[in-house]
Amino acid sequence: MQVKPSGTLDEYLAPVTIEEAARALADGRASVLAGGTDLMLQAANGRTPYRGRLVNIRRIAELRGAAITGGRVRIGALTTVTDILNHAELAKAVPVLRQTADKFASNQIRNMATIGGNICNASPAGDMIIPLLALEAEVELASWDGAKIRTREVALEKFFTGPGRTVMERGELLTAVSFAVPEAGHRVRFAKSGPRPALEISTVSAAFAATCKDGVTTNVRIVLGAVAPTPIRARSAEALMEGAECSGDLAARAAKAAAGEISPIDDVRASAWYRTHLTEVFVRRLIEDVCHG
Ligand SMILES: Cc1cc2nc3c(=O)[nH]c(=O)nc-3n(C[C@H](O)[C@H](O)[C@H](O)COP(=O)(O)OP(=O)(O)OC[C@H]3O[C@@H](n4cnc5c(N)ncnc54)[C@H](O)[C@@H]3O)c2cc1C
Repeated sequence: MQVKPSGTLDEYLAPVTIEEAARALADGRASVLAGGTDLMLQAANGRTPYRGRLVNIRRIAELRGAAITGGRVRIGALTTVTDILNHAELAKAVPVLRQTADKFASNQIRNMATIGGNICNASPAGDMIIPLLALEAEVELASWDGAKIRTREVALEKFFTGPGRTVMERGELLTAVSFAVPEAGHRVRFAKSGPRPALEISTVSAAFAATCKDGVTTNVRIVLGAVAPTPIRARSAEALMEGAECSGDLAARAAKAAAGEISPIDDVRASAWYRTHLTEVFVRRLIEDVCHG
C-alpha cells in the first residue's frame, strides 16, 4: 500500500549550520525534520501536514552531543536516544536519563529518535520529557530575525501548552536542552507502563526526584506523563513531602495526592480509571525506591 503524505512539499533543504537552518525556517513555511519517527507518520496520517519546505536538520553537527561544563548538562537537540544510552559521563552524572532511554522504543527507533524531536512533538506521553521536567530543565530556541540569530531560553515546564502544542513560534528551532547537574545525594527515578516493557508509547509515566537525608525529604519533584493534556508537576503531592519525614505512610499519602492532580482520558491504550490507579502505584513505588531503596 502506498501512503501519501498530507500537505505539499515543493522544496527540500539540508542545512549544515544553525544559521542556515534558522534562515530556511524564517518565513514560517517550513517543517523541521530531525529523526522523522514522529513527523513522517504524522504527515502520512494527516495530523501534521507538511508546510511546503522540508528542512532536514540532521547534518548540523553542532546540534548533536552532550557535555557537562560548569555544573550544567547541555544536550544538543539532535542527540539521539542511542547517544544518551552510550554516554558514560552523562550516565554517571544523571543516571535517570539512561534509565529512561533504556525503556524507549526499539534499537532502530532509538538510533533515529532525537531528544529535540521528543520535546518538540509535545506528546503528553513523550518519555524523555518526564525526567527532564524533574531536573527542571530549560530549552534553548534559535530563530533568524532578518539580520542575525536571535536566541531565547524557556523553562521546559512553561514550554508545553497542549497535546502537540508548545510556545515555540513558527520559524524557531530548538537547539538544546540544559539543566544543573543534580547535587550529591539528589536522586531521580523514572517509571513507565505500556502493554510491553519497551517498544511502546507510555500508558502512564512518572518521575520522582528528591534528596533524602537523615530521613527528611527535600527538593521534591513529582512529574507525571500521559495523564493530562501536557506532562505535569504534581505540586500538592510535592508540597506534602517537602521537608517531611519520609515514611511509608507519607509515600502512600503523596501518591494519593498525585493521583488526585491528574485529568486522564479513556482511550485505546487505557481507561482513565486504570491511569489513575497506575499513577498512584508508580508514585508510591518511586518514592519508596528513592527514599528507602
Ligand atoms: C515504533 C515507535 C515507537 C516509539 N516509542 C516511543 C517511546 O517509547 N517513547 C517516546 O517518548 N516516544 C516514542 N516514539 C515517538 C518518537 O520516536 C519520539 O517522540 C522521538 O523522540 C521523536 O524524535 P524525532 O527526532 O524522530 O522527531 P521528528 O519526527 O523528526 O520530529 C518530531 C516533531 O518535532 C519537530 N522537531 C524536531 N526537532 C526539532 C527541533 N530541533 N526544533 C524544532 N522542531 C523540531 C518536527 O518538526 C516534528 O513536528 C515512538 C515512535 C515509533 C514510530
